[in-house]
Amino acid sequence: MPLVSMRQLLDEAAKGGYGVGAFNVNNMEQIQAIMEAARETKSPVIVQASRGARAYTNDKFLYHLMLAATELYPEIPMVLHQDHGNSVETCKSAMAMGFTSVMMDGSLMADGKTPSSFEYNVSVTREVVEAAHAKGITVEGEIGCLGGIEDGHGAGGDALAHLTDPDQAVEFVRLTGVDALAIAIGTSHGAYKFTRKPTGETLKMDRLIEIHRRLPNTHLVMHGSSSVPKDLQDIINQYGGKLKPTWGVPIEEIQLGIKNGVRKINVDTDSRLAITGAIRKVFFEKPEEFDPRSYLKPAREAMEKVVAQRMTQFGQAGHAGDYTPIPLEEMAKRYRLQHLAS
Ligand SMILES: [Zn+2]
Repeated sequence: MPLVSMRQLLDEAAKGGYGVGAFNVNNMEQIQAIMEAARETKSPVIVQASRGARAYTNDKFLYHLMLAATELYPEIPMVLHQDHGNSVETCKSAMAMGFTSVMMDGSLMADGKTPSSFEYNVSVTREVVEAAHAKGITVEGEIGCLGGIEDGHGAGGDALAHLTDPDQAVEFVRLTGVDALAIAIGTSHGAYKFTRKPTGETLKMDRLIEIHRRLPNTHLVMHGSSSVPKDLQDIINQYGGKLKPTWGVPIEEIQLGIKNGVRKINVDTDSRLAITGAIRKVFFEKPEEFDPRSYLKPAREAMEKVVAQRMTQFGQAGHAGDYTPIPLEEMAKRYRLQHLAS
């Protein structure tokens, strides 16, 4: 099947009461790992590429790998999403390339680190929504800013400095018409999220619940939601790595989020940890190896394992065959009618 609209995937997830992991990719092995995990667990999938990933793959390689995935895994509904678009231009180039969903992160200026004004955010996001919906493409916006800048996007170290204000979230959705909304509740990007195990208090889950109560029809997105499991950290350190002790977002908190309107959960660090640990192990145990396949294959398998586990934990497993994809033209028509009615 062709790449599908993220709106449809998330609407279905809302109906079924589950969440969908959005996994970042930069190369063929990561795409293969996700697709194998999806087949194994019968999951719909969101594959996402950051600006960095698009630069690394020069777009074309990434896009054609995704087309290969649609041919090889015809039973899996799959979305190609732009993660953290920093400008209207970035989002438009993703749409031109064939992405079926884009994130316009107007919570920061185009440099990806300076917090912007509410007015700026509304204006750029609205512009992207108009262009995207005309083509049936989904839009995710962000209100409030995430902490951490390891992925080149975030307002800096303090994840609690720019939490999402529920009143602003309501106003933002009304003014922009976004399909999905990333909210800041204390998570941050990268491996170093928390210095001790976070509780429902560290993560502002009550705020998430309040936002969902006020915006029951908007799909909420949790960014920076890798769980950074200790066993994956240990493998890296056991074979010569030097990760400092760190904690991610506990699965129970994500599952509480899913009960309260979270439909998209962004995971990148867990995949990176799995890949790096597997490669380090081969390098350490078999220093005589020099065929890249000898370490990329176990790396791919390690990522597949953690992705399949997340798909099961988020509840998307078993739902790949629930629905037939709605063509983007039909989605565009629905947006037009919705627009006329409002
Ligand atoms: Zn993010």
